[in-house]
Amino acid sequence: CGIVGYIGHQQAWEIIIKGLHRLEYRGYDSAGVALLDNDGQLNIYKKAGKVSDLEAYAANKDLYGMLGMGHTRWATHGIPSDRNSHPHTSGDGRLSIIHNGIIENYAVIKEALLAKGHQFSSDTDTEVLIHLIEEIKDHEQVILEEAVRIALNRVIGAYAIVVMSKDEPDLLIAARKGSPLVIGVGLREYFIASDASPIIEYTKNVIYLKDNEIAYLRRDELVVKTIDNKVQTPYIQELDLKL
Ligand code: GLU
Repeated sequence: CGIVGYIGHQQAWEIIIKGLHRLEYRGYDSAGVALLDNDGQLNIYKKAGKVSDLEAYAANKDLYGMLGMGHTRWATHGIPSDRNSHPHTSGDGRLSIIHNGIIENYAVIKEALLAKGHQFSSDTDTEVLIHLIEEIKDHEQVILEEAVRIALNRVIGAYAIVVMSKDEPDLLIAARKGSPLVIGVGLREYFIASDASPIIEYTKNVIYLKDNEIAYLRRDELVVKTIDNKVQTPYIQELDLKL
């Protein structure tokens, strides 16, 4: 299972697919990618099977976008299938998420969201989290950054997540607890991955996100906060390239 994210001025698809291949050794049953262009056009392609199956499926589709995220899934909740593959989206289709890990209290949250009228299109724990973020954003009147933070305070479990929104073509949000995430720092571009292997060919400056931290990545700005809303000063370290 693995995560790759990109925000910058290069085409995200190439970087993400290459990165997902680098993470294949971790094992997975499905793969998917979300791409966003500057006009807020969001394209999601996902498939049970190999990363190469996803590439074949997406070959003639619109792969344009300089912001995106990709996922390889190791199913824990819901069988391996196209519909259970990540990314998952909110009910209004504006928010999307990829997730490695398990949301342990997803059943209780799902029940509450169903009672509020949410409809789900997968059997995953992950989809519940993006609907929870949507619910908080729309009904507690907070911006997306805050909605993600509040939602993470309500879930129990382990996660590495990346969230993006059609309404925010200059924002990637990443967070972790119990699952690794590395941020690669480039020039007006950032990379996110489960380990440094998808990042090393682009930059050797990395930040290892800590548990209970959320990173807000914009092309010109990186902000890291704890889920208690304390701003952190991220420590940028140089990767040792003698691999
Ligand atoms: N629990 C999530 C699912 O089953 C994520 C699994 C993973 O770590 O890839 O979809």
